[in-house]
Amino acid sequence: MQTYSNLVNGKPVEATSHQEILNPATGDSLGLAAISSEQDVNDAVIAARNAQKDWSRVSDQERQETVARVAQVLQDNSEYLAELITREQGKPLSGPGSRFEVQACVGWTQVPAALALAPETVHEDEERKDVLHRVPLGVVAAIAPWNWPLMIAIWQIIPAIRMGNTVVLKPSEYTPIATLEMVRLINQVLPPGVLNTISGDGRIGAALTSHPDIDKIMFTGSEATGRRIIEASSRNLAPITLELGGNDPAIVVPGTDATAIAEGLFWGAFLNMGQTCACIKRLYVHENDYDSVIAALSDLARQMPIGDGMNENNLIGPLQNKMQYNKVKELVGDARSNGCDVMEFGDVPDTGYFLPVTLVGNIQDGQRLVDEEQFGPALPIVRYKNLDDAVASANSLSAALGASVWANSPEEAEPVAMRLEAGTVWINQHGAIHPMVPFGGNKASGYGVEFGLEGLKAVTQPRVISIKK
Ligand code: NAD
Repeated sequence: MQTYSNLVNGKPVEATSHQEILNPATGDSLGLAAISSEQDVNDAVIAARNAQKDWSRVSDQERQETVARVAQVLQDNSEYLAELITREQGKPLSGPGSRFEVQACVGWTQVPAALALAPETVHEDEERKDVLHRVPLGVVAAIAPWNWPLMIAIWQIIPAIRMGNTVVLKPSEYTPIATLEMVRLINQVLPPGVLNTISGDGRIGAALTSHPDIDKIMFTGSEATGRRIIEASSRNLAPITLELGGNDPAIVVPGTDATAIAEGLFWGAFLNMGQTCACIKRLYVHENDYDSVIAALSDLARQMPIGDGMNENNLIGPLQNKMQYNKVKELVGDARSNGCDVMEFGDVPDTGYFLPVTLVGNIQDGQRLVDEEQFGPALPIVRYKNLDDAVASANSLSAALGASVWANSPEEAEPVAMRLEAGTVWINQHGAIHPMVPFGGNKASGYGVEFGLEGLKAVTQPRVISIKK
């Protein structure tokens, strides 16, 4: 059986234990992924620390060129990586699936490669000049989730490397293989020690985030783990970028043409089978439009081919793991037992963690499927009587990653959008992230932003050179 190793200082690391990774669509084995020991974590941090001295001295232009070469390696291996993602994570090759994920990796690498943070004169008078430089922090610990395993790892590692940091990355224990392969490939164009990996579950993650020689933590995952990481960081005082869970509301403004927005709403909710941080997880529709919105979404849901994502005709794949599969089933079961209208669509294969595309009507705030992050293909649709109530509902939870407002014109949506509490409020689209546009949560969805110039600043520290004239 094929084994997949970690890479430290540019070399594969021999592991003493491994875990078998199974395809969530078929149950087939994909191979054995290494599990790191605490000693491995320490070795990786030391390698990153040693490499960082030289890497921080490399000229900015050379670092830009190196990152551009990383983008090329990702492009050259895009089909190989996309197939690995589909086999390991489940999202289909087609549609907004694994090919789309790899192309996002390319884009989110090319953009930081082309950006630079120039020194900024923050004050100047006859007596003095003060210039703010952005210098690397040092060693960045990156902890990634399983839903978009390569894309989110790229978001964490590329800005860090671009700005002269080195990285120790831990992929999720559910999806290590594609990430370990991606790191092996891009290490071909990086100096040894600039990008290292460790793998394993939360214990190994905790050994990394509490390591005394870490200078920054990039974390994407659940709120519960985020809180543990904040505690762990008291060991090293590392600043943290925390991208946590969401429970994004979408509000359809009264009188909106349901057929015009149905496709945007559908993929806003069911992208990656709903296993996306910034997916629509509760939909608020005016009582007069409720039937037409449900009809338009049902029409789309009926047409969606569900099955193994290696078949290019399929657009909806399995859930990634049993824990998530059981959680979604439990939340839908709870709604059903409370008398909600559960509408299920699609022929679900017998193998794997497949669930039907599910719309749940006749449901209110306070029910578990509305209030808890389902992270799966079950969308609650809540009727409202007036917009003020919908806005209050949208803002009522502690999660505040994204939100969206849907209307016949942006002008109609904007006053509503301005009232929503979220890191990003989209109008007539949802989850439409862009590598130049800062992205991050408000309230319990975390703090700090990624992407664009703000994302680069987040992996640097300010250094002021103050000159007496
Ligand atoms: P998770 O918190 O269970 O795991 C995330 C990562 O943290 C994994 O690599 C895991 O091994 C590691 N980990 C677990 N315990 C740890 C500890 N004590 N110390 C250090 N690391 C530890 O999350 P998940 O189930 O993989 O991901 C799903 C969650 O992530 C959802 O809530 C989703 O909304 C959120 N998410 C957020 C964003 C965003 O950008 N805001 C993006 C994707 C996913």
